[in-house]
Amino acid sequence: MMHGLMMDSALSIPSLLEYAARYHGDNEIVSRTIEGPIHRYNYRDARARSKQLANVLHGLGVGQGDRVATLAWNGYRHFELYYAISGIGAVCHTLNPRLFPDQLVYIVNHAEDAYVFVDLTFVPILEAVHDKLPDVRGFVVMTDEDHMPDTALPNVHCYETLMASADADYRWPDLDERTAASLCYTSGTTGNPKGTLYSHRSTVLHSWGSCMTDTLGLSSRSTVLPIVPMFHANAWGLPYSVPMVGAKMVFPGAQLDGASVHELLETEDVDFTAGVPTVWLMLLNYLRESGKRIDGVDTVIIGGSAAPRTMIEAFQKELDTRVVHAWGMTETSPLGTVGTLKKQHDELTEEERLSLQLKQGRGIYGVELRIVDEDGNELPRDGEAFGELQVRGPWVASAYFKNEGGEILDAEGWFSTGDVATLDADGFMQITDRSKDVIKSGGEWISSIDLENEVMSCPGVAEAAVIGLPHPKWDERPLAVIVTAAGAELSREDVLAHLESRVAKWWLPDDVVFVDELPHTATGKVSKLTLRDRFRDHVLPTAVAAGG
Ligand code: AMP
Repeated sequence: MMHGLMMDSALSIPSLLEYAARYHGDNEIVSRTIEGPIHRYNYRDARARSKQLANVLHGLGVGQGDRVATLAWNGYRHFELYYAISGIGAVCHTLNPRLFPDQLVYIVNHAEDAYVFVDLTFVPILEAVHDKLPDVRGFVVMTDEDHMPDTALPNVHCYETLMASADADYRWPDLDERTAASLCYTSGTTGNPKGTLYSHRSTVLHSWGSCMTDTLGLSSRSTVLPIVPMFHANAWGLPYSVPMVGAKMVFPGAQLDGASVHELLETEDVDFTAGVPTVWLMLLNYLRESGKRIDGVDTVIIGGSAAPRTMIEAFQKELDTRVVHAWGMTETSPLGTVGTLKKQHDELTEEERLSLQLKQGRGIYGVELRIVDEDGNELPRDGEAFGELQVRGPWVASAYFKNEGGEILDAEGWFSTGDVATLDADGFMQITDRSKDVIKSGGEWISSIDLENEVMSCPGVAEAAVIGLPHPKWDERPLAVIVTAAGAELSREDVLAHLESRVAKWWLPDDVVFVDELPHTATGKVSKLTLRDRFRDHVLPTAVAAGG
């Protein structure tokens, strides 16, 4: 074998911030703070403060490979932690504050976090559980001396006080690019949460993949508002990919309601924003009620759960804002597919284009995709056949932290996603369901996502979920659970009448129930597990008829 003669420079996370500071040093990072005011500084300041923070971490005795946790909103201090922790060779472990206390305790102990950096909002969460965290050496509250709470936490420090006494001089160590950089647990519906451990290399490659024009298309001219939290799959990698191009960054802090998000979009001239469907639902409701618009926003990325057709329509038809539907998971860093359209799609009618945008996007360079049947045989890429989606690539997990769950790749190195999908010849992937949410009726599968889309197109429906309930004759039958829009009057019969002309007869839900709100998981997805549990004893009228 003859090696090429090119430099083997290590890919490193600090290099992203160094680049932004050197070439886009004046570009701003704007944060809505927990303390109240808007904070602004630029990439040069962020680099200087991250280096200072690296010295703080050394002062606290954090060494290479140690895990340091964050329990925080999207903001500039959290951003500094992303760079300082990974930059010194430690592992930035983002904790999801929406988890149940027991899960949080399990995760901190499993990760053996040495310190927890915490936003003011979440101090009470830690106060309630700190005595169950034997490995944690101390807590750092991410605020200044004036706002330090009177807290029962032991070994507690103030972020700005530590920073004030830290040296500003720091040289990032040379790290092997495969060094672990960050850790994010995913809460599977079975078993304990498992940690995905990203490396410097995987993070930089994922950023490169993210920035490409056909992917997110980020540029130094963009202003990006990541609403997706930094504690959920690293805010889809935006804290890394945005500095890679030096774009202006806007962090929303704790206020994710429609009015607050709208205010930031307007006042900061945001043109690119990303989040899960539930936050967009809040924003769209606010815009409808207030009559306000978001004219400066070019692109809204929707991912994490299926973007409903009505949501894509609302952004594109009412607000003239382009929607890009994307799919990914914690184990894929998370970008896996992105729904940017090809040239040939310019010819499509609006309705055809919407149908294509309902798909979760197409494969991007760096993530191989395939679908397989139950025996692992590859299925055709014809947009019709559906099977389990598998992925492979340099930013896909090869194992979970501490080898939890054992071997997760098959003999050819494919990772099974647990999603059931179709793939078409252009590479567009459409999720029909999580494999555990699919409704198995009389030996056939009903896609809960497709059915939900049709239910949500019924006037008066604000949000809907469809779950399978046991049925004596058909094995499972669909139940539609609906939240009605404010002021709307809607009956079971209205919904069924609406669906009659839109879905096959055997897809019609056997019952429709109305609730005040749907349960959501810690990452903003509708929790079908909770719903199935809640309606476990619900008797479908057809089950009675069938003698069940
Ligand atoms: P998480 O690791 O918490 O980000 O969850 C990943 C899972 O979310 C995927 O395996 C999918 O089931 C689901 N998901 C992510 N994006 C989408 C999407 N655009 N449409 C449907 N499901 C999605």
